[in-house]
Amino acid sequence: MEPSHDRLLDGEALPLPEPWIRILDSGVRNTLEAQLKVEVGEGHPLFGKSVTALARCGRCDEALFGVEGAPTHFAQVHLTWRSAPDTPPWPWTEFLSPPLFDSLADHAH
Ligand SMILES: [Zn+2]
Repeated sequence: MEPSHDRLLDGEALPLPEPWIRILDSGVRNTLEAQLKVEVGEGHPLFGKSVTALARCGRCDEALFGVEGAPTHFAQVHLTWRSAPDTPPWPWTEFLSPPLFDSLADHAH
């Protein structure tokens, strides 16, 4: 069973594969969520979605977001740190299939 948003947010231990780092700092979380909103333009699968930044890669600009929905799903996004919306399909987004741990472990550099 997939962990819920809330479980990931409330600090309950969820093991993440290296080099993924849980986002526990609300300032970092807000920054990533705001940046995602800047980058996704109309036509992007995350446009207008309510997302929560959950983790980030320690080695690149890839971030993991929980996407509100029924059920909640998870998106791995390569943020570009542009200051204006990008052209879909950028920022590159991959919807992860369960189990989350294995999907994140597939992330290679
Ligand atoms: Zn990475």
